[in-house]
Amino acid sequence: KGKAKKAGKLATKSVDRAAVLGAGIMGGGIAYQSAYKGTPIVMKDINNQALDLGLTTAAGILSKLADRGRINAKKMAGVLNNITPTLSYDSVKDVDIVVEAVVENPKVKAAVLAEVESHVSEDAIVTSNTSTISIDLLAQSVKRKDKFCGMHFFNPVHKMPLVEVIRGSETSDETVAAVVAYAAKMGKSPIVVNDCPGFYINRVLFPYFAGFSQLLLEGADFVAVDKVMEKQFGWPMGPAYLLDVVGIDTADHCTGVMSEGFPTRMAKITNDPVSALYQADRLGQKNGGGFFDYG
Ligand code: NAD
Repeated sequence: KGKAKKAGKLATKSVDRAAVLGAGIMGGGIAYQSAYKGTPIVMKDINNQALDLGLTTAAGILSKLADRGRINAKKMAGVLNNITPTLSYDSVKDVDIVVEAVVENPKVKAAVLAEVESHVSEDAIVTSNTSTISIDLLAQSVKRKDKFCGMHFFNPVHKMPLVEVIRGSETSDETVAAVVAYAAKMGKSPIVVNDCPGFYINRVLFPYFAGFSQLLLEGADFVAVDKVMEKQFGWPMGPAYLLDVVGIDTADHCTGVMSEGFPTRMAKITNDPVSALYQADRLGQKNGGGFFDYG
């Protein structure tokens, strides 16, 4: 908190144009939110289907707002116009910030971060929306380490206020201040946290998922667990449904990173039911079924 305050007093680089790498659950949401709050954003993926899905998601959120009379057709068109879908790096050369939101795989992220850094200007800030991978580890693949940090949004991006801004050991105060300001411009409520696998929220959330997996291995029924967490304990969703929303693949990758980072406290679970779903290609809401089915 102290560091965030200090960073807030610096002359802050303004973010007028952004890029997001990956048009999936998170990339599509980040593109929507940036565009909605007035910062044009380039949305880059490696396949057209993903770009279409990212745009459809944004259009879907806008349609709901229009149905409730909260926006008009002009605003809707303006927001969509603020998102530039692309398969190439050509349009990222004049952006002020990049948010990398590709799959939770350290090798893929390392390659993508090095690649994008070679296409943006020297002043551009590069961030990662990784859920769990240490920012210092990812920083090894970029040259301008002072202009690199974590910018971790939560799912669904348009509804969740929190953004974790993760300061790596070489991230400059100017970079932290600019990323905090961009998060605020997006209507979010940023917190600045230090680096470690899982940062703050996922150091709390993944032990909870591990506890849930252990319960299932001991014979618990996931429907019953979810029901208790929702109806009696009062949480908006139970762990099985939440895992489906997050994406079973992403959750499994994150669990792997957490167990490598904290081998004793977060030891890998043998026969983890979440890994079994992943092996069966039941990825959650993103492909129609995970713990639950989504017709
Ligand atoms: P996703 O599977 O929905 O989307 C990933 C996208 O990345 C896909 O569209 C894929 O085509 C694209 N991609 C893969 N390689 C690429 C490349 N080289 N260049 C450009 N695009 C590429 O995944 P997601 O849930 O959006 O997760 C993305 C990141 O956000 C991960 O690091 C994840 O840990 C993090 N995250 C996820 C959640 C969540 O709840 N799903 C929440 C916070 C953070």
